[in-house]
Amino acid sequence: MTRIGILGYGNLGRGVEYAVEANADLELVVVFTRRDPASVKVRSGVPVVSASAAAEWKDKVDVLILCGGSATDLPEQTPAFAKLFNVVDSFDTHAKIPAHFAAVDAAAKAAGRVGIISVGWDPGMFSLNRVYSNAILPGGADYTFWGRGVSQGHSDAIRRIPGVKDAKQYTVPVPAALEAVRSGSNPTLSTREKHTRECYVVLEAGADAAAVEKAIVTMPNYFSDYDTTVHFISEEELRRDHAGLAHGGFVIRSGATGKGGEHKHVIEYSLKLDSNPEFTANVLAAYARAAHRLAKEGATGCRTVLDIAPSYICAQSGEELRKALL
Ligand code: NDP
Repeated sequence: MTRIGILGYGNLGRGVEYAVEANADLELVVVFTRRDPASVKVRSGVPVVSASAAAEWKDKVDVLILCGGSATDLPEQTPAFAKLFNVVDSFDTHAKIPAHFAAVDAAAKAAGRVGIISVGWDPGMFSLNRVYSNAILPGGADYTFWGRGVSQGHSDAIRRIPGVKDAKQYTVPVPAALEAVRSGSNPTLSTREKHTRECYVVLEAGADAAAVEKAIVTMPNYFSDYDTTVHFISEEELRRDHAGLAHGGFVIRSGATGKGGEHKHVIEYSLKLDSNPEFTANVLAAYARAAHRLAKEGATGCRTVLDIAPSYICAQSGEELRKALL
């Protein structure tokens, strides 16, 4: 049995609670929060404890799953809590993964603990599929498409525009680009050709819709390189029609083998997720199992999904896997 703790009870934290319940060899024992524990109602009824008292649980938790945000929570929390627990997080700021890895590695090694970072779907399952297909088709091209799904970063960027009360932004793959990639023709695609952006915006009373639309579609880095559509809707419509957390995407690699590259090959992995946080939580739970196994073997330091053998994330034994899934 692997005793699990959760740090941070937001969308991901609630998803991990379900994920642990779905795995017979995992048991949730505690939820840590930075808020007043009395104000956090946990569905399963396990104790809710202040994050500042986590050290008292050092020997009662085998793996702590960190469910804070990547922007500001995890860069601090994962190295800090790796001093007390084996940890798993879903850190998803791709450019900062090397620095985060180094910080968690140093803390985990010093404490004799294991950390597995950037677990989820991107980074996570998408990364694994990019690596497998790169190794197998060295002479080829990689394509990642995201969506249709909500991008939190782009939604936040719209909310910061004066006159905007609330907003949701969907990233949508362009069907023609997907088809071109699937044909194996290795097209060169610009940013604009791969994805479009759909924005649903609630305005403050008296705000200038035309000015807000212009501010969105011309915003550098976020929207100016895309074909962006802006829909102004009521607060009630936003709540009713855009509260979902669905997401997904496609990782495709195409390459060729044989004389003059005469034989084309396309590898595709796709995800269609009704709930981004619940799916991510299930990936975290599977890798918590791996963290506990590695720790029992005496391993220390940081890992990513790329460093974990597939059998370590499965509840079944190697023998069972060879029989059923190989
Ligand atoms: P949330 O905003 O729902 O939760 C983040 C934290 O906010 C919680 O852990 C919680 O910590 C705190 N919080 C403060 N006030 C509240 C409140 N009133 N209700 C709920 N939580 C509150 O973020 P998500 O759980 O949706 O996402 C967390 C991170 O997961 C994202 O930043 C993203 O980086 C990552 N992620 C990674 C993916 C991947 O593929 N690798 C995919 C999806 C997400 P506390 O209890 O301590 O207050």
